[in-house]
Amino acid sequence: MLRTHTCGELRITHTGSLVTLCGWVSRVRDKGGMLWIDLRDRYGITQLMAEEGQTAPELLQALRSLGREFVVQAEGTVVKRYAPNDKMPTGDIEIRVERINLLNPSKLPPFLVDDETDGGDDLRMQYRYIDLRRQPVRSKLELRHRMAQEVRRYLDERAFLEVETPVLIKSTPEGARDFVVPSRLHNGEFYALPQSPQTFKQLLMVGGFDRYFQIVKCFRDEDLRADRQPEFTQIDCEMSFVEREDILQTFEGLLLHLLKTIKGVELPPLPRLSFHEAMMRYGNDKPDIRFGMELVHLKGYGHDHTSGVDFGVFDSAERVVGIPLPGGAEYTRKQLDELTEWVKRPQIGMKGMVWMRVEADGSLKSSVDKFYTTDRLQSWREAAQLQAGDLLLVVAGSDSLTLKAASALRLELGERLGLRRADEFQALWVVDFPLLEWDEESARWMAMHHPFTSPIPEHIELLTQSPGAVLANAYDLVLNGNEVGGGSIRIHDRSLQAQLFEALGFSPEEANQKFGFLLNAFEFGAPPHGGIALGFDRLCALMGGSESIRDFIAFPKNNAGRDVMIDAPGPIDAQQRRELGL
Ligand code: ASP
Repeated sequence: MLRTHTCGELRITHTGSLVTLCGWVSRVRDKGGMLWIDLRDRYGITQLMAEEGQTAPELLQALRSLGREFVVQAEGTVVKRYAPNDKMPTGDIEIRVERINLLNPSKLPPFLVDDETDGGDDLRMQYRYIDLRRQPVRSKLELRHRMAQEVRRYLDERAFLEVETPVLIKSTPEGARDFVVPSRLHNGEFYALPQSPQTFKQLLMVGGFDRYFQIVKCFRDEDLRADRQPEFTQIDCEMSFVEREDILQTFEGLLLHLLKTIKGVELPPLPRLSFHEAMMRYGNDKPDIRFGMELVHLKGYGHDHTSGVDFGVFDSAERVVGIPLPGGAEYTRKQLDELTEWVKRPQIGMKGMVWMRVEADGSLKSSVDKFYTTDRLQSWREAAQLQAGDLLLVVAGSDSLTLKAASALRLELGERLGLRRADEFQALWVVDFPLLEWDEESARWMAMHHPFTSPIPEHIELLTQSPGAVLANAYDLVLNGNEVGGGSIRIHDRSLQAQLFEALGFSPEEANQKFGFLLNAFEFGAPPHGGIALGFDRLCALMGGSESIRDFIAFPKNNAGRDVMIDAPGPIDAQQRRELGL
């Protein structure tokens, strides 16, 4: 080894030892008579020192010629510092340098390799290998590593086998476009990169591997959205001879295990909400339940607190939804105007916002006093269970748009009130999703999860008459308002699978051409099975207290889907094109 210790491990007990360290020069401080160098490696920083009169002149000169990010090997004696630095684990000691060996010089780095850097995103990504030397980046990847180890440990202890599935495959439908790879040996033909290992894990079940997992790369060619990566990692799992409850228990256990081992947080058993209830209470199928402020339905879901006064805006609306804001009666006109502008932004799409507040004396004041008597407003207050000093913000419009807007407004208010704390964790299951959703554009039913999801047994009959009413045996795992996992009990019966393909508008020929291998496998003893996949990057980011997944990936793509370090994607040369028949 080129070193005896790391830059993070020497303590006062090592005083007097002769040690050799290797690392990068982080900072040189030259005070004339004294010279200090911060030497950094993955484990920390150790201070090297040299002193005029004590240190040999050639050595002093060699130390003076070191620049930032030079890689060196330094030998010396551990001594106690005159002025200890209690912010550094190695702050009680320093190394009196006796020999320095330059292993490799460095050009001047394009940004500061410090916890706080002056490098913008693009520059950091272009020189990611330098960015990786920064402690905040490294610690996020260390967290990711620990998470992966805990996932393996938990699943291994429960007899799950880690099996690799192929990357060059044929399409797996998860609702996105495939990335495709042209074949040289089969000109004009293409592989697809897996959007998930879905069909393979099901085939593993047919193959008798009754508990499978894989921490696996998946690829989805989707339109760009902030914080989406075209390649991402899933903890992909499947089990045989199980029912929904078994899967929920097993993977709830995994999440709780991770929260406990990684964050030291213990959660009670997770609540469960049906899709319908989640939409009604939060306007969202991945509700953030770290705070209340649940939606109040003034019109819709069987309520009507708004009709009969000739207020056109509410009369023509399919839905009128309130968001209660405890203590919000103090909001000024200006704040209310600003929130009104917020809901009118194109991303939210509301035409305006109505408010009502309960004054300290219990009287009611609203922006629609012209239309609604106190008695009518009183019914709003009761519906929303408002206390003196509370505010109700109300949006109205078409069904889906209004729920979406109310949900977004609730989250925004929660954010502004500091109720969405990154160090607080609340998770839940959302269950009983619809099996199918109607796609206006293609005028056909689409699988809400994917086409291998089983309907709940009581609903199989409904599939032909009223496909929209069929509930799926599917579930999502939600953490702090983010969907961190989703899965389902699968269809294992060939004829039911064929029936579902038909409901999705595939002709028998198409179904056969695309998924014949799976339909065939179902004729050779497919066991009942189900599974789930957890988004590993997102899970790491949430546990790391961050909204963005990018820093939890060693070499991420930017928001335009480019790797700016290796400059990909890029063109291929004419010869390669010819070989591929492109
Ligand atoms: N393959 C699914 C997905 O990627 C997960 C599952 O159903 O297990 O979302």
